[in-house]
Amino acid sequence: MLSFDPDKVSLPDGHYIAGQRRQCPGNRFAVKRPSDGRVAGELTEASAGVVDDAVCVADRALKDSGWASCSPRQRGAVLQRWATLIEADSQLPLLEALGSTRPIFDVVHHEIPFTAAAIRFYAECADKYSGDVFPTRDASLGMLVPEPYGVIGAITPWNFPLSMASWKCGPALAAGNAVVLKPSELTPYSTIRLAELAVEAGLPAGILNIVQGSGAVSGSALVAHPLVRKVSFTGSTLTGARIMSDAAYHGMKPVTLELGGKSPQLVFDDAGEVTDVAERILRGFTANGGQACVAGTRLIVQRGIADALISQLITRCQDFRPGLTWDENSRYAPVIDRRQAEKIQQIVDAASLQGGEILVGGQRFADTGDGYFWQPTLIANVSPDSPALQEEIFGPVLTIQIFDEEEQGLALASHPTYGLCAGVHTKNLDRALRAMRGIAAGTVWINRYGRSGDFIIPTGGFHGSGIGKDLGRQAFEACRRYKSVLIDF
Ligand code: NDP
Repeated sequence: MLSFDPDKVSLPDGHYIAGQRRQCPGNRFAVKRPSDGRVAGELTEASAGVVDDAVCVADRALKDSGWASCSPRQRGAVLQRWATLIEADSQLPLLEALGSTRPIFDVVHHEIPFTAAAIRFYAECADKYSGDVFPTRDASLGMLVPEPYGVIGAITPWNFPLSMASWKCGPALAAGNAVVLKPSELTPYSTIRLAELAVEAGLPAGILNIVQGSGAVSGSALVAHPLVRKVSFTGSTLTGARIMSDAAYHGMKPVTLELGGKSPQLVFDDAGEVTDVAERILRGFTANGGQACVAGTRLIVQRGIADALISQLITRCQDFRPGLTWDENSRYAPVIDRRQAEKIQQIVDAASLQGGEILVGGQRFADTGDGYFWQPTLIANVSPDSPALQEEIFGPVLTIQIFDEEEQGLALASHPTYGLCAGVHTKNLDRALRAMRGIAAGTVWINRYGRSGDFIIPTGGFHGSGIGKDLGRQAFEACRRYKSVLIDF
């Protein structure tokens, strides 16, 4: 029985600093439940002073606790215990399903296991990757010695609060850093519980701290803090650019930026069974209500298979039903809030005004009150300069473009701004590899769409989709700085 009563869930109040929930004076903000728009609770925004406190606590904890200097295996063991507690905790799934767009079924079966697995992956990395030794002249030794940065500032978005936190904290902590994390003010609750479990698992108090508040106040204070030595962010391209500029200005800090996308699904006539392809395309743009940076939102389909594929997609889109995220039967995510729903509506309306043909959907589900459930939407004949093709929508909206020749399809697939992911669907290996080389994207999925549980494969975008990688060994290495050492003996 997974269903629960959202009014009976006890919500963690305050920030989490030095291993304790902490109340501080400041501006209050309401947190709404995406499923029904009702206020779940109120929190206080971390002022620059509270952020300063959290960062100083983290810096002191690094010096006092021995976290950075203990054996990497010890750090790995703590992270392993943390993953076990995450899997076993009864409160975490409720906080995530109540406060985010993720239905409880998905939280229990995907989000929690995925979060724990990411932490485990980095627990295993802790003692696996070394520095380097270089060839130098006799009686001399050249080395590259990795060390943690110190305090890392992490800022996460609202679409996958738990797993995004694990992608930031896992590598940072495994590498011996401390973290101050600011979750989105729209989805603040589960991250606090995640941090509490880390301390229960043996992480020294103060090594992982959570501050609540808006990006404009708490987030920018975190980025600017002189003791924050690196910033790791997931969110929109616009905010990523702002953070990069702030990080440069306030101490030339390195950044990892996982940003927006407008990813193509390139389907060739020889893609194979249409039903399978339709399933992949559908999942690619409707998972989490389309609120995923990797959502595959541009269908670029070769003429021979187009009619069959589009008709299957239309039929399947009509099967979606809205449902409260705390109901175990719900599978379809609401849009996070009214602002996001309005953004989707504006882009869809603009596409329609410019001649786009709405084949299915195009509006919210009726009778869902202040829960903003958007119907899966297909738009054909979209004008090339339409925002529906140019901008990240972050909703369950798929544009459709039809092509004849391979080169045409490839040309349509690369996007002028974004380069996060691409799906290529063909049984012709040569063509698949040509497409893989031809499309400017940080990830190319061939005959599938979406990540596997192989955390060794990193993720990150080209162009406006970001800088650096989350996941994989790359994310771990990006949480260390490298000191060049030359010794004469
Ligand atoms: P943002 O990119 O603005 O927010 C993401 C995170 O950054 C939040 O925690 C936010 O805080 C914080 N933030 C905002 N401004 C600053 C700043 N100046 N300094 C430091 N931190 C900051 O996304 P939105 O929530 O506004 O969503 C808008 C659009 O962004 C969506 O429609 C979607 O297109 C895209 N998006 C992309 C995501 C992705 O995974 N690529 C994830 C989320 C959104 P807070 O919100 O608490 O104020």
